[in-house]
Amino acid sequence: MGPFRRLGAAGRRELLSLLGPDAVLADPALLDPYRGDFGDRSEEPPEAVVFPRTTRDVQAVLALASREGVPVTPRGAGTGKAGGCAPLHGGIVLSTSRMNGILEIHEGGARAVVEPGVVTRDLREAAEARGLFYPPDPASLDTCTLGGNAATNAGGPMALKYGVTREHVLGLEAVLPDGRILNTGRRTLKGVAGYDLTALLVGSEGTLAVLTRLVLRLRPRPRAVETALVPFATVEAAARAVPRIWTSGIQPRVLELLDGGALAAVRRRGAVPVGEGWGAVLLVETDGEPGGCREEMDRLLDRVADAVEAPRRSRDEGEREALWAVRREMSAAVKEGARGWSSEDVTVPTDRIAALCAYVGEVAGEGGLRVAIYGHAGDGNLHVNLLYDAAAGRARLRDATERIYRRTLDEGGTLTGEHGIGSTKRAWLPWEQDETALGLQRDLKRIFDPKGILNPGKVLP
Ligand SMILES: Cc1cc2nc3c(=O)[nH]c(=O)nc-3n(C[C@H](O)[C@H](O)[C@H](O)COP(=O)(O)OP(=O)(O)OC[C@H]3O[C@@H](n4cnc5c(N)ncnc54)[C@H](O)[C@@H]3O)c2cc1C
Repeated sequence: MGPFRRLGAAGRRELLSLLGPDAVLADPALLDPYRGDFGDRSEEPPEAVVFPRTTRDVQAVLALASREGVPVTPRGAGTGKAGGCAPLHGGIVLSTSRMNGILEIHEGGARAVVEPGVVTRDLREAAEARGLFYPPDPASLDTCTLGGNAATNAGGPMALKYGVTREHVLGLEAVLPDGRILNTGRRTLKGVAGYDLTALLVGSEGTLAVLTRLVLRLRPRPRAVETALVPFATVEAAARAVPRIWTSGIQPRVLELLDGGALAAVRRRGAVPVGEGWGAVLLVETDGEPGGCREEMDRLLDRVADAVEAPRRSRDEGEREALWAVRREMSAAVKEGARGWSSEDVTVPTDRIAALCAYVGEVAGEGGLRVAIYGHAGDGNLHVNLLYDAAAGRARLRDATERIYRRTLDEGGTLTGEHGIGSTKRAWLPWEQDETALGLQRDLKRIFDPKGILNPGKVLP
């Protein structure tokens, strides 16, 4: 990889003439926000940020960068948590945020065709207005983009029932690092022609191609939703309830866990009353037909009968939204007041959640760190936050994090359930994948990007 060339004044001038002045940001005073995301930031700002409006614009930028050997870092909304859009080697940040058209919603074909910069909630609302449903719902859905979701294969609470973003991407248009256009996949719900390049590009974290158009699967919109908050005395008790649900015959659409540390943040914010003696809660949702999903919720709650108090069920949309507001704010809320933290995204088989939570408590205790765990317990994906209040905590964080990674893998889990490897977990990928798997991925990277200019420093060590 590299050495990379600088864009320089001549490169900036060429970008301006290719895209026009309102699509190129080159004033050093304005480049700082483009140094990264919620996970990592580059030491230096990029040399320029470009905001293409068309696939042809993207082609032009990549052709220039490829010719000159200048790195390009794709960016959506910059809500990532693994440093994926940090321009670690400088060069150009290519933001697809202004390519934000919903080009087609096809009720009969159950699909949408969109540009990558569409904000996830905007597609959800547009689909709902047509009686359809786009389920992938990262907690950042008010700001993140569909291109970013596809590039990270984003999950979210509803992945439990409906699957992650990959299950909803039928086809893609993408621009390869040398400027060629690649069309993958299909517009039909089924299709098995050739190798599945769509599946390869989804989750490739902007390292293989820039996504410029997405064909997305839509589903029928459920007519009713039931939501309940189930309190438990301890996080282990809540975690033990999760596998019991699998044998209830009911598929919840959401099964989220908040531990004691996360509940402390809820208490501080005061939006929802948290009972004395609550050590953890499960937030559960069923959907479907009005009577049916209520009955399903009744049966499901019978399965988690060792709750410390009667479950709270939302009586109307207002109460439901209040419960969800708490969950969506969790990422910021748990960090309030802390001097520093790490926020992990580990995932274990659901019957190992209780063991992992207990281990995290142990490790944090030994390192004098605070813990807040929340996340998508239904698919074993836990956002483990380790926090410290005094400067000395920083040194202990890395050791604690590595011990948690090791234990996650020993439990049969993975280092990242949805945020991606990016730059932040790159050094540890070899803990999870062997040399054969890593070598094959390096070969793939070379085929797509022989000059290594696209998002260098990410995913593969
Ligand atoms: C409060 C909060 C809650 C979150 N909750 C969740 C959650 O529940 N589930 C979840 O999965 N994630 C979650 N995230 C992480 C983040 O929102 C997702 O990873 C999201 O998919 C990133 O989208 P983005 O548009 O912000 O992409 P960015 O952060 O800008 O980029 C992410 C990656 O995608 C690449 N990329 C972006 N656009 C393109 C493109 N057009 N072509 C090629 N590559 C591209 C970038 O290079 C980078 O590697 C959360 C983040 C926050 C801050």
